[in-house]
Amino acid sequence: MPELRAALHREPSLLGRMARVLLDLHFPPSLHQDLCEAVGLELELAETDALAPSTRQPRDRRMRELVLTAYEYQCAFCGYDGMIGAVPVGLEAAHVRWWAFDGPDDIDNGLCLCSLHHKLFDKGILGIGDGHRILVSQRFVGRSAAARAHVTALADRPILGPQNGIPPVAATHRSWHTSQVFQGSPRSVA
Ligand SMILES: [Zn+2]
Repeated sequence: MPELRAALHREPSLLGRMARVLLDLHFPPSLHQDLCEAVGLELELAETDALAPSTRQPRDRRMRELVLTAYEYQCAFCGYDGMIGAVPVGLEAAHVRWWAFDGPDDIDNGLCLCSLHHKLFDKGILGIGDGHRILVSQRFVGRSAAARAHVTALADRPILGPQNGIPPVAATHRSWHTSQVFQGSPRSVA
């Protein structure tokens, strides 16, 4: 595409903006940094809600607050609940069905996860199985005591939360994640 090449030559910042839009439309935010590093791209940090197609509502920033409250400010996989003073740290609201793939900003499409488990969930190493139990992919390998405690030992444990009266992750979003994101087969529990 000679026009695109000429436009990029005139305006080099166009590349970063194009990458930004592609990332926002196709991948969850927790994977953006890894993808950019993999292709050697530096990205400005601002998200581009304004550039998303007008058919989608802007991302609901209230979702984070609702999901963290629903799960009482602890990771649904490991129970991590760190704070600095009164402010939670290292806790994030994860979309089960990715926002980029029409996942709604609804409580039953959200999970409160610590940063590590959010990353592993979006990479398809962790998932949610029947009975809201944690799936751990056979592809994850970590032989240290820390890797075992933080990842492999989670297999088949029940999800923590949400609190009473709040709907858990909907079966339709759970099965989307299992079929589209989860990698390989889940580890069986001895
Ligand atoms: Zn966690």
